[in-house]
Amino acid sequence: MTTRRKGDLSWASFYASIAYYAPAFIVVVGVFLAVTYATHQNEKLNLENLRTNTTESLGRLRAGLEGNIAANIHMMQGIAATLEAEGDVIAKDRFETIARHLLSHPSQLISVSASPDLVTRYVYPTGGYMGHLNWNLRRDAKQHAAVAKVQNEGKIVVTGPITLRDGKTVLVVHYPIVQETGAAGRTFWGVLSGLVDLDKLYADSGLPAESLNVAIVANEGEEGTTHTIYGNPSAVSDHPVITTVNFGTDQWQIFAVPASGWYTAPANAFLFKLLACIIGVMIIGPVLWVASLLRERQENISALRQREEDLRTISHRLEIALEASKIGVWELDVGSGILDWDARMFMLFDEKPTDGQNNYATWRGSVHPDDVEDAERTLHETIKTGRDFTNEFRIVCPSGEIRHIRAYGTMYRDSAFRKKIVGVNWNVTRDMRLQQELRKAKLQADKHNQELERARQHMEHNSLHDALTELPNRRYLDQHLKAADASEGAHSTYTLLHIDLDRFKEINDTLGHGAGDEILRHTAARLRENIRGGDFAARIGGDEFVVVCAGRIDAPRFTDLARRLIDAVNMPVRYSGQDCRVGASIGIASRSNADLKAEQLLINADIALYEAKRRGRNRVEHYTDAMRSLAVDSKRTNDAILRSIERNEFVAHFQPQFDSHTLEIVGVEALARWDHPEKGMLDPSHFIKAAEELNVIAKIDAAILDQSLLQMTRWTATGLHIPKVSVNISAQRLFDDMLVEHLEELNVRPGTLSFELLESISFDDKNESTNNALAAIRALGIDIEIDDFGTGYASILSLLKLSPRRLKIDRQLTRPILESEPQRRLISSIVDIGRSLNIEIIAEGVETMDHVSLLRDLGCQTLQGYALARPMSANDFAIFAKQRNWFPRQPASGLSA
Ligand code: C2E
Ligand code: CA
Ligand code: CA
Repeated sequence: MTTRRKGDLSWASFYASIAYYAPAFIVVVGVFLAVTYATHQNEKLNLENLRTNTTESLGRLRAGLEGNIAANIHMMQGIAATLEAEGDVIAKDRFETIARHLLSHPSQLISVSASPDLVTRYVYPTGGYMGHLNWNLRRDAKQHAAVAKVQNEGKIVVTGPITLRDGKTVLVVHYPIVQETGAAGRTFWGVLSGLVDLDKLYADSGLPAESLNVAIVANEGEEGTTHTIYGNPSAVSDHPVITTVNFGTDQWQIFAVPASGWYTAPANAFLFKLLACIIGVMIIGPVLWVASLLRERQENISALRQREEDLRTISHRLEIALEASKIGVWELDVGSGILDWDARMFMLFDEKPTDGQNNYATWRGSVHPDDVEDAERTLHETIKTGRDFTNEFRIVCPSGEIRHIRAYGTMYRDSAFRKKIVGVNWNVTRDMRLQQELRKAKLQADKHNQELERARQHMEHNSLHDALTELPNRRYLDQHLKAADASEGAHSTYTLLHIDLDRFKEINDTLGHGAGDEILRHTAARLRENIRGGDFAARIGGDEFVVVCAGRIDAPRFTDLARRLIDAVNMPVRYSGQDCRVGASIGIASRSNADLKAEQLLINADIALYEAKRRGRNRVEHYTDAMRSLAVDSKRTNDAILRSIERNEFVAHFQPQFDSHTLEIVGVEALARWDHPEKGMLDPSHFIKAAEELNVIAKIDAAILDQSLLQMTRWTATGLHIPKVSVNISAQRLFDDMLVEHLEELNVRPGTLSFELLESISFDDKNESTNNALAAIRALGIDIEIDDFGTGYASILSLLKLSPRRLKIDRQLTRPILESEPQRRLISSIVDIGRSLNIEIIAEGVETMDHVSLLRDLGCQTLQGYALARPMSANDFAIFAKQRNWFPRQPASGLSA
């Protein structure tokens, strides 16, 4: 908008300028015309002057020429008079004397001759310019006409110019000589001719004239031919001033122009122009000045109008803004105390508008009694200090409505130097309400945040604690240890007891998770009871716990604590009406070295724990550096086992089982061997435990089973009839869900395969799925044997519920029978039980032939042991069996009696 107006303005001012400067322009044109005209006139005058001067000069020139010629003619008259008087008798000498005398006078005549009867008889000077004597003028082409005229008319004739032989240019003056011949009158005698030196004539007449450019044109004879005899012919055509010189017959025209030409600037030209310019400037200057004044005035007027317009616009906008925002404007005259309100102030205060009254009382009356003191104080402060007035107060409207008003004002002095405060008021009730609501909302949000914080803390607690036991968890432990790592002094010294429950997995697997959970809760409770206030126990895994004891390292104290813990954990737990027991092993590691990080300490405790478990259950071990290398070894073993499983380096060896009476081979037990790539063939003591811990024992079992079945088929193929093969089966494999499925695929011929289950596998509380698995195994025609019978804790009753096909008496029971009567009785009673329940009895660890016969006599049907055969490879076994060819070995003679 502004730009457009600016553009309009510039156009308007342009047109206005034209209007203002038009008179000036006209004056300029007038002055210009006047100066031009005056200059022209000046030049014209100049030209006329020139012409007059030229005419004057020319007149003088003509007079000179005519005078000189006339003078020459006049001089000739002297001789002419003599000739007229003496005529024919004049002697030559006399002529010459007279002529010499004549020519001695200054004139332009250079020669005189007399020609009686037109033939030259007298010449002076002789041999000079006039040719020769006896020159007949009638016969001269050039002079012929002139002398004829002289003779006929009796006039003086001037002819020429002619150029003489010596190059001189001359005029010829012929003077008629007429003699008085008495009464008869006058007789023509001849002519007297004089030569006038033309150059001299010109020079004596003032030619060349200094200031004139002159041309002389002669008319020759009557024919009227013209011919420039002097000067520059250009003068003839340049508007010359012309005059005529008459010599009797001939006529000359003289043309003259000023030497500098007609068109020279007048001498006063510069001065004249300067004067004209000065006059012009003197006229134009004031006119322009007036025009510019007029223009400036007009511009000032329009600027004023624009300002007025702008002011109107701003006022209008302000009005709209105030109206829209409902802002009231007030003004307080500090001196008089008069408070002036605009219309909106009345609306704000809900008061009837008054005109020109002091509204201070109205204002004071409206302000809420609680706020009026503060508002007035602030106002007085403003008056005192001149600082801006800012205040917020409530007003009570006549209707009783309460409004919140915000006020702002500034001090100024008006044109009469009166102190005034001008200010605005506006209604902020809505803002206030909004603020209150916001405050309320904020309070609510705070409450909400507190709840969230509580929830967060709860979650944080959950994330750091084990839900089942309420003990801190692994994360908590890690954080705690990390903090301890970072701290120094007493807090940085602590001891870790790493606790692992023995056989927990079995309980979980066989009795279900309920039992497992109960054991875990029981353990947690026992740990809590037995540790000191500053210490804490954490559950860091399934059945793993860590107790952190801060402070001094005191190995015996921790050994005692660990034993107490084991004892407490060992206490039976009642679950579903039965007592469950669980063992515990504990590894202890202390932070004796400040560089030792928690992570390493945990590993150390774990190594100690491993050692404790390795050395048997319910043990306590303190970490030593030696253990570490052991652990490294076992790690190496573990890695090797895993590798060997992949590479099928576990092979089945076979130990035959014999009928106690006939010593025929009635079966074989498959025993796992590790064909170690470096150490050679290793027996199970080198790997069973590790494989169990690595959870890969089931894989080895499966491999041995596969190989056994394969060998059975091979033996049969080679005509070797082995009735049955027994394979050892680990708890892991037995409880494997996939076992039955796998066995079904193998298609075992019923009665040819039996599984040896360790008595130590707890079947007391076996769950449904185990029962089902055993039933399924039996249904496939696979026999169940109880291995190592007599060493486990299992009740005989529960074992019998499994309806095994055989009981395998452990070699610990077998060995002492030769020396111990009670042991013999024990075997005997086992045999009795078997017989009554139709369960076969097999004895293992039969190391001597004495054992063979004694066990046979005690009633064991089957025997297995070094005395009869050692475990051997499949091939060795085939050879062994063929060599024996089923023949029974003779029993030792001492015992056979
Ligand atoms: P076991 O089932 O009681 O196996 C019999 C063990 O007694 C074998 O030891 C065998 O070599 C040994 N033995 C046999 N006759 C005599 C004897 O007259 N005197 C003595 N002192 N020992 C004799 P081996 O092969 O070292 O096996 C040890 C244990 O390893 C086995 O005990 C069995 O529990 C386990 N085992 C062996 N093979 C496997 C397998 O494939 N799977 C599983 N889960 N365990 C296996
Ligand atoms: Ca066995
Ligand atoms: Ca055994």
